[in-house]
Amino acid sequence: MSRKVRHVMGISGGKDSTALAIYMKINHPEIDMEYYFSDTGKELEEVYTLIEELESFLGKPILKLKANNSHKDPFDHYLDLYNGYLPSSMARWCTSKLKLEPFESWLGEDLAISYVAIRGDEDREGYVSTKSNIQTIFPFRKHMWSMEILHKVLHNSGIDKLEKIYSEIGEHNKQDRYREVITHKQSAKYLFSQKLGDLLNLGIATFNLAVYEFLKGSDYPIAQLEDYGLLKNEDSVDLQGVFDLFNSAGINLPGYYNEVEYEVDGEIGTFHRSRSGCYFCFYQRKIEWIWLYERHPELFKMAQKYEKDGYTWMDNESLNDIVKPNRMNQIKRDHLNKIKNKLSKPKSNRLIDILEDGDDLCANCFI
Ligand code: SF4
Repeated sequence: MSRKVRHVMGISGGKDSTALAIYMKINHPEIDMEYYFSDTGKELEEVYTLIEELESFLGKPILKLKANNSHKDPFDHYLDLYNGYLPSSMARWCTSKLKLEPFESWLGEDLAISYVAIRGDEDREGYVSTKSNIQTIFPFRKHMWSMEILHKVLHNSGIDKLEKIYSEIGEHNKQDRYREVITHKQSAKYLFSQKLGDLLNLGIATFNLAVYEFLKGSDYPIAQLEDYGLLKNEDSVDLQGVFDLFNSAGINLPGYYNEVEYEVDGEIGTFHRSRSGCYFCFYQRKIEWIWLYERHPELFKMAQKYEKDGYTWMDNESLNDIVKPNRMNQIKRDHLNKIKNKLSKPKSNRLIDILEDGDDLCANCFI
């Protein structure tokens, strides 16, 4: 007998996970989604405002998962346990203690499909749980499967099985082409990515159905479902699609995305914060620290208080250092030059596209 499968989605308080929640509610109301938010206790107020707005749109609560029951905020509780050792990209205890562990303990041994908002125009994998009872699906991407599953399905050892599936579910007039692609073994001359692209070009919904059939009989959560609406999904949602979803739901982008002006050497630049997450997140760019200093001076002061006993949020300078007038000027100047450079060869004419800087995002944090 198949086991019950839960459908869960983490809301980070950022634009992409919010857009995915909107998307799922509009396009897949048949899925009984459970929403959660991993509360570190250190988010910006705008995040809590967004979560309230989203709850109202979804018509259901977003569960606040807290990593501990002490009187302290979860981050401070664990900071004590780590003897004041601040997290960093090399020692990211905060993500595991404040986000992953509460999430995995909430699910226990239940089978679950976790929906993650990696956009169709992003080239990164996103969080995939290492627990076998949790399967990650990426509805905004051209294909919604994790790399682990794709490698399994397209592995040379699965050619016969995949060929049989396509012969049963595929379009009649494409059978020769399916066979040609599927029986073409992966090699240095025919890479995994080429084979995947060729199959997707022959039909995304057919590919999704083939993967689903391939996984049947396995322990993957999706294999327990009798039917799954996302198999017919051929959408790929990019940054513009995210904005469109906010518009269609009548929800405002979180306030920290709004561009605000700064002045440097008589020139005007603009900046914003590019992420949700803790206000002191060590992944933020230096210009975002300056943004925090100017827009939320009380939070900046609190972030400064954490820097003691030789621990700092950044590797090579302290928060005291970066707000010295000369240094702050230099950070703004560097930022303005970078923006000018990007504006001279834009991929889009929307300022937020130009400023979008995904390289240093704490991708795994925002499950
Ligand atoms: S947002 Fe940054 S500081 Fe907060 S838990 Fe995630 S990685 Fe850690």
